Amino acid sequence: MKAIIKAERMPGNIILTQKDIPVPNDDEVLIKIKKAGICGTDFHIYKWDEWSQNRINPPVIMGHELAGVIEKTGKNATKYKKGDRVSAEGHIVCHHCKSCRNGLFHICDNVKIIGVDIDGCFAEYMCMPESNIWPLGEYISDKYGAIMDPLGNAMHTVMAQPVKDRNILITGAGSIGLFATAIARSQGADKIVVSEPNEMKSSIARKIGADLVINPLEENTESKILNLFGGHGPDVVLEMSGFKSAVELAFNVIAKGGDMALLGLSDKKITIDMNNNIIFKGITVRGINGRRMFETWQQCDDYLRDYAGNIDPVITHEIGMEEINRGFEMMAANQAVKVVLNI
Ligand SMILES: [Zn+2]
Ligand SMILES: [Zn+2]
Repeated sequence: MKAIIKAERMPGNIILTQKDIPVPNDDEVLIKIKKAGICGTDFHIYKWDEWSQNRINPPVIMGHELAGVIEKTGKNATKYKKGDRVSAEGHIVCHHCKSCRNGLFHICDNVKIIGVDIDGCFAEYMCMPESNIWPLGEYISDKYGAIMDPLGNAMHTVMAQPVKDRNILITGAGSIGLFATAIARSQGADKIVVSEPNEMKSSIARKIGADLVINPLEENTESKILNLFGGHGPDVVLEMSGFKSAVELAFNVIAKGGDMALLGLSDKKITIDMNNNIIFKGITVRGINGRRMFETWQQCDDYLRDYAGNIDPVITHEIGMEEINRGFEMMAANQAVKVVLNI
């Protein structure tokens, strides 16, 4: 089968090659992949940054965002049959650690991520534990099935606190920040302000539900945001960028009693004024990782049933497997947001 691998421990070196079709064990299904989303995580592996160097053991088949069709089922995998259309949760969890036994599968101690720790979905076929499968209703096309993973990151972040009738600031309009903008709008948020320096991403944010997009590189961003929200700042901040300046902005402007959800990963340590920005403000800070299994998937399924068309502007490109490196180059040049591979 055709497969896209990270071949060696160096920048780039992403190759379309031939691999054997994997064989499912008793508890797995074999999926014929139709479409796969390229994620920021894949871009890190492409760049071979510090995180990738510590985590990835090439050669590995990349990719963790998928839509496909069941091709074969293991002996114990009886819930699905050949031909069923599916997506899948890419975090394979242990079911035994303390987090798993408390229903917090998304923070499993022993998680294995497809396309990172084990072979992923940038291939014609892949095996998945049956328990990771999310079946796709006819109202979810393959294109949307292939982005349920990052849509789920956004959903998890938005749903971590009430947003209805509250003022929201979203820092960072990559694909997850943009999905969060659309979801917060559908959930009845009051005013939604997005901070994003890139013009293409800003214009998409406006299209899919932001009342206003501000450029954080311009002067007086903090006072501008405070003025927008009646002098007391946003009730909810969804931090999607991981940039030090954005995190500092978020803590400085959030309203007293507000809710802060942090999803963006930082590449360096960030210092917070705990007294003034957390304790005296009485805010709640939450870290967001992955998707709740499978509450978030159900929420995404419901969202796509009603609003799939709303997130269309985020999926800027669909390309063939042989164009994978062009996909990364477009991401590097900020010319693409969500790129979907046709497998
Ligand atoms: Zn991803
Ligand atoms: Zn576990």
